[in-house]
Amino acid sequence: MEKIDLHVHTNFSDGLYSPEEVLELAADREYDVIAITDHDNIDGFLQVKNYAAELDLELIPGVEISTLEQGRDVHILAYFFDWKNPELLALLKKIYDSRYGRAEQIIEKLNEEGIRIDIEQVKSYAGRNNYLGRPHICRALIETGYCNNKYEAFDNYIGENCFAYVPKFAPSSREAIRVVKQASGLAVLAHPYTLGDDSMIYDIISYGLDGMEVFYAKCNDETVIHYNEIAKMHNLIRTGGSDFHGDGFDMDIFGTYSAPEKVLKELRRSRDE
Ligand code: AMP
Ligand code: ZN
Ligand code: FE
Ligand code: FE
Repeated sequence: MEKIDLHVHTNFSDGLYSPEEVLELAADREYDVIAITDHDNIDGFLQVKNYAAELDLELIPGVEISTLEQGRDVHILAYFFDWKNPELLALLKKIYDSRYGRAEQIIEKLNEEGIRIDIEQVKSYAGRNNYLGRPHICRALIETGYCNNKYEAFDNYIGENCFAYVPKFAPSSREAIRVVKQASGLAVLAHPYTLGDDSMIYDIISYGLDGMEVFYAKCNDETVIHYNEIAKMHNLIRTGGSDFHGDGFDMDIFGTYSAPEKVLKELRRSRDE
């Protein structure tokens, strides 16, 4: 039986471990196939695509693209794209480039309310490619003593409905799906339950979505069954992953979790069509 995880982050976005460490951990925990799906960049994937073969791991090209649908942060996973495709690379770069100024704006809003964290501290936690995301600001809030954990940070300061929230540049979900498909990739809606509103999902499906991340490690069985039904009804491929970042319970999940083998069959068949 193949052991599969199609949603893994490294420290080229907001994961804690380097791509090399993630692959070694995956090999150690007996995975056969993984996809590195960093947010809005493929630098970590590029760094280890040859190393994966040395470890006897199949590494699928992946990325998790930040998009906007009806003002909400929607994550679109892409797989098996041509990783030299200029339009895809340009789109990822545009999102990535907007992050620095956006982090400065968030910190300014925090400072205005007397919360003294500074950009240098946040930068010291940044990804290896200087990727800056809210999880890095979250870490500064915790380590400076303003919050006890990430839930407090996102609930009170930097979550979507909080005073210090600043959106980053993100393409519409429709545009991101179009760009992935012109790069011969498959576009998959990540962790669909986090949208909290299925009507939005039907809109996203209508933009040409290929699949849905039904077998997400961090949701319950009922949720899996629910999205499995929707995927089947709309003829979508199903994928699954742990969304490993390396913190919290991630170390327990990574290794015990596997996406069902049929996921890989559906993904490959769809790639070859
Ligand atoms: P960003 O792309 O900089 O807006 O950061 C988004 C990332 O922050 C997500 O991928 C999650 O890892 C994390 N995140 C977003 N909302 C929450 C939340 N409510 N609790 C914990 N982590 C969150
Ligand atoms: Zn993340
Ligand atoms: Fe996500
Ligand atoms: Fe993720």
